[in-house]
Amino acid sequence: MTDTILSVENLNVSFQTNNGLVRAVRGVNFDIKKGETLAIVGESGSGKSVTAKSIMHLLPKKTTQIEDGTILYEGENLINYSRKEMETIQGKEISMIFQDPMTSLNPTMKIGKQVMEGLRKHQAISKKEALEKTQEILEMVGIPNAKERMNAYPHEFSGGMRQRVVIAIALACNPKLLIADEPTTALDVTIQAQILDLMKELQKKTGTSILIITHDLGVVVNMADRVAVMYAGEIVETGTLRELFYEAKHPYTWGLLESMPKMHQDRSVPLVPISGSPPDVSNLHEGCPFAARCPYVMKVCHHHNPERTYVTDSHAASCWLLDERAPRVKHSIGGGTTNEAKTR
Ligand code: SF4
Repeated sequence: MTDTILSVENLNVSFQTNNGLVRAVRGVNFDIKKGETLAIVGESGSGKSVTAKSIMHLLPKKTTQIEDGTILYEGENLINYSRKEMETIQGKEISMIFQDPMTSLNPTMKIGKQVMEGLRKHQAISKKEALEKTQEILEMVGIPNAKERMNAYPHEFSGGMRQRVVIAIALACNPKLLIADEPTTALDVTIQAQILDLMKELQKKTGTSILIITHDLGVVVNMADRVAVMYAGEIVETGTLRELFYEAKHPYTWGLLESMPKMHQDRSVPLVPISGSPPDVSNLHEGCPFAARCPYVMKVCHHHNPERTYVTDSHAASCWLLDERAPRVKHSIGGGTTNEAKTR
């Protein structure tokens, strides 16, 4: 039996806009194993949220097209699933948490009823059982006085408490995979840490796999077993947490490590932004999409997009610096990373 729960292969997603076709996700591949957490990290517009929403069929059908690829969940290709078939998966097998808890909560419905609805939709249990389970789940996610608070409305909760309720709803039916799209971005730092701790604790209890989408390396460090770095719709580097933080090979990852806020970082230490801005994905030129911003750009980078090169079995990057003919480059991120790679 395979230990892979989700396998995304060669995913290509486009949007039709007034400015033409935007190729938001291009040739994306990744796997998530049972019980593991994969973080997809990148600047806004890198395609990470589009990738997550594609899995759940949450992109607007009128303007979006999945041009190619497979999304294998427990061996089943979700791409061809109808809306009805997806409804049997959503919530029960795969749940999703968004940045703003108010997007997921109904402001006019009591909290308890919202959790119960999810439970009764996917489980054949009585109203009494659902009520008991709702209280249990709300207690599990740390809602104080859960029995009384079930009768409150979302606006009566703080942002952190609302996100706890969203997590309660998401985990109510013990999904095998939780997709969390910037789940703590709207929260202040202390609450962020509490929510991440809660997710980890619940994961330990339930064995749920997590796909977390974030722009915050602090979240990555706290949560991830493996990391995929996205840029301009492509995964440019992937590896274990340690490989990405201490052995990064791609200049964009180096830039991210220098430029992104880290959750517990001393705020007086200045961040070094990556110069320039991401390319317009509706008008991509040939070559490496990072070429215009890359301090190590070479002639070949302008003409040919580099293939993925494996540095170890778990660590790969798409950069011409990993070609054996490229000049040796040393970078100080993570204590002296070089561009030496074993190609295979
Ligand atoms: Fe920089 Fe070239 Fe590598 Fe792209 S392929 S990241 S431009 S060195």
